[in-house]
Amino acid sequence: MSYSWHTEKHFSARNNWLRAAVLGANDGLISTASLLMGVSAAQVGTPTLLLTGAAALVSGALSMAAGEYVSVSSQADTEKADLAKEAHELARNPTLELAELTKIYELRGLNHELAAQVAAVLTQHNALEAHARDEIGITDTTAAKPFQAACASAVSFCSGAFLPVLVAVFSTASVLMPLLAISTLLGLSGLGYVSAKLGGAPVVPAMMRVVLWGAAALFISALIGRALGVPI
Ligand SMILES: [Zn+2]
Repeated sequence: MSYSWHTEKHFSARNNWLRAAVLGANDGLISTASLLMGVSAAQVGTPTLLLTGAAALVSGALSMAAGEYVSVSSQADTEKADLAKEAHELARNPTLELAELTKIYELRGLNHELAAQVAAVLTQHNALEAHARDEIGITDTTAAKPFQAACASAVSFCSGAFLPVLVAVFSTASVLMPLLAISTLLGLSGLGYVSAKLGGAPVVPAMMRVVLWGAAALFISALIGRALGVPI
């Protein structure tokens, strides 16, 4: 017997962490390349340029990690507080909580009898889990993990920032700006492609979007670098 009735791909549920990683790489690539573009338009020497690239990579990765840690932690705190409150309510007033759960299933389309039956069985199975999932919307897969999220953010930022830094290390000063621009736009279109594929979205608009924003960021950074960098 074959169970072929549920094999279609669900884009929104799958690959969420992968799409977040692609976005992080995108950030790392655009911000580091723009910074290097601006600095190199200001005609600084190679040591300053390389130092700037390394600093951009490290500080970007750390700030992404810190931001992600704080944001996911506060989400985790909220989830914890919600669960504690729910557990307290369940202990204090089980009858009311059962009625509440029944109401939730009725609102989702079950008739009253069936809803009461489902609520009763799930309450017996694991009341807190049922309330967490169906009332608050917390499941094991959505439960916030701050440290994991912070590490993933930092790593994905670095994977994007690495490309322009490599270009800066290996390119000569005279061709650095065009090389930075070309490699960054190629990298961005690759990331745009992957991100669209993962999300099941049309590929061309996704690539165009990210390449246009990237080109604008590079161009503006170069203009500012040239305006501010007065070679002596
Ligand atoms: Zn409840």
